Amino acid sequence: MQPEFEDRTLICGECRERFVFTSEAQSAYLERGLPLKPRLCPDCYTAYRKLLRVVRDFSRDVSRTGQHWQGRLI
Ligand SMILES: [Zn+2]
Repeated sequence: MQPEFEDRTLICGECRERFVFTSEAQSAYLERGLPLKPRLCPDCYTAYRKLLRVVRDFSRDVSRTGQHWQGRLI
């Protein structure tokens, strides 16, 4: 039996804003095997993804130029 989803209001772990975790999003999470407990609101999640990309690009540039950056906080 398929569980029924209801829209849930969660609080973002980053900006502390409330956001709605919709029933559609919950079933999409379940299909992908993700935990039904997003920590970030959509805005922060987008920003987080962007940051990951920046860090990845940066590490790639560094490995190409051979610069040493270990131990430095990004
Ligand atoms: Zn947020």
